[in-house]
Amino acid sequence: MKKMLAAIFHKDIKNSGGEIILEKTTIPEITKKDEVLIKVEACGICGTDLKIMQGGHPANDQTILGHEFVGTIMELGNNVYDLKPGDKIAIDPNEKCGICRPCRRGNPNLCEHLASGTTFGIFQNGGFAEYSIVPRSSIFKLPNDITMTHAALIEPLSCAVHCHNIAEVKESDNIVIIGAGPMGLIIESLIRTHPLKNLIMIELDDWRRQKAIELGADHVINPKESDIKNDIDYITDKQGADVIIDAVGLGETFEMAQQIWAHGGRLICFGQDNRAIAQIKPNEIVRYQRSILGSYISDSCDFLDAIEIISNKMIDLEKLITHIIPLDQLISKGFKLMKEKRCLKIITQP
Ligand SMILES: [Zn+2]
Ligand SMILES: [Zn+2]
Repeated sequence: MKKMLAAIFHKDIKNSGGEIILEKTTIPEITKKDEVLIKVEACGICGTDLKIMQGGHPANDQTILGHEFVGTIMELGNNVYDLKPGDKIAIDPNEKCGICRPCRRGNPNLCEHLASGTTFGIFQNGGFAEYSIVPRSSIFKLPNDITMTHAALIEPLSCAVHCHNIAEVKESDNIVIIGAGPMGLIIESLIRTHPLKNLIMIELDDWRRQKAIELGADHVINPKESDIKNDIDYITDKQGADVIIDAVGLGETFEMAQQIWAHGGRLICFGQDNRAIAQIKPNEIVRYQRSILGSYISDSCDFLDAIEIISNKMIDLEKLITHIIPLDQLISKGFKLMKEKRCLKIITQP
């Protein structure tokens, strides 16, 4: 039987987290009529992959990780009529049911089905492998001329599109993004495509602040070295931040946002940390009519938009993808760079 290389999560039984091991495993086969066998062409490394190892995010034992993957079609189940071998495709790793209450109310990203742990590359086998099986409903056909290493950004970009839509950026907005990690910078790149007044990034790390400037920030602030409120007051002429995107998700960053938001300002919580707790001043929200909004993953429309943005190169993909590595260097190079924070998106290729 033919084997393939894959990165498999081995859960630590006693503690949370576990180990990701590159090993040879059986090439999967189609078992259901709506399934498709794909050859993985590229798969991005996500901060979530690191969190899974460290115990900050759940995942199923013995699962092939990698949820930001794209590929070409090899074989089709009997009920798949609208695709053909050789087609380039992207995968929405979050399988939505289409029939639960949130799905039927037009919020498939909040699908109840997701809570039971179905995401490809986290709870079901994903894209750190040579081949993968996915249902037709999770597949988006890509244009033929798209570069597949670029296409691996479709999934994270779709989440940024979702956030960008919630932000409803206006030309006169002062915008602050807290956190210039890969997601903060993808959101920055997307927001930069829209006319606005000021785009300010808050980030502790020097290397990442430099990247934020290269990707179009008007100002960067190191929260360790400056008084955030004074700096934002100075930059915005005491107007404050009309839109704040918290791409970190800690209690501290939530509280930081409350020091700098404008009258009528909107805080969009994007970064996630299930341990975060913050204080809030309800009266400041009433008196200045401020809003706090969440942005969670993405829906099909965000995916379609992300495909357009990437195929039309509307953001600087070359700057956002800092490394393209073979899958067998996922651990020795990929995760190492992630831990050292000297990379933006790293794309693996089997
Ligand atoms: Zn991810
Ligand atoms: Zn649903």
